[in-house]
Amino acid sequence: MRRKLVVANWKMHGNLASNKELLSAYIEKLTSITTIDVVVCVPYPYLSQVQAMLQNTSIAWGAQNLSKDAVGAFTGEVSASMLKDFGVSYVIIGHSERATAYCESDENIAMKFMQAKTHGLTPILCVGETLIEREAGVMQMVVGKQLDTIINTYGASVFGDAVVSYEPIWAIGTGLAASAEQAQSMHEFIRGKVAAQDKVAANSLKILYGGSVTPRNAVQLMVTQDIDGGLIGRCSLNAQEFEGICLAAG
Ligand code: PEP
Repeated sequence: MRRKLVVANWKMHGNLASNKELLSAYIEKLTSITTIDVVVCVPYPYLSQVQAMLQNTSIAWGAQNLSKDAVGAFTGEVSASMLKDFGVSYVIIGHSERATAYCESDENIAMKFMQAKTHGLTPILCVGETLIEREAGVMQMVVGKQLDTIINTYGASVFGDAVVSYEPIWAIGTGLAASAEQAQSMHEFIRGKVAAQDKVAANSLKILYGGSVTPRNAVQLMVTQDIDGGLIGRCSLNAQEFEGICLAAG
């Protein structure tokens, strides 16, 4: 039985004062929920703040990106070992907001995935299709290709104890979440693809759903067989809404 995981993605929101308020509310509302794991992924400059505030709590923290390289002349990049210096244990990789805006290729994303793995960070790999791709019925082909780049380069075993978040691009920040059936069907496909090469890895792989999750729709999504939790954008900026989602998963 996989333990459910709910991840807050604050994206580029917050400042020292508002973070302090939101993190205090997280601590007050979420630390009594012991049946799931909760993680908050914040912008780089606030990693030391979350480390200071969350280090003795059950809430873990993460980053929203990392460099594909270990060290060197890469201005503006942040390495896996730098994240480790701030107690980071999770890192979001390949979020569509980055993949589109900064032209991240599947190959770059695969390298980032391995940087995280080799440094003991849990990668949260985002995959998902556009609305045009869903309407054309090629969503499994698109998500399959995103996974194949990693499987073909490093083998399916690297998905052991990793996290994949299925995030249909048409559902992110739009208020239009995928139905539990749509999500289940894709989650089953993802697990099956990994299982075809490595059953043990597929069993330990957590597959989250992300895209306009709210406390209302979370109730149905979180009880769905292959949904192991959620990646939450907008609703994670409100402690009460985020608590509602965590309770639905718990
Ligand atoms: C996300 O940032 O990954 C996300 C799913 O955002 P939202 O919950 O706002 O759709």
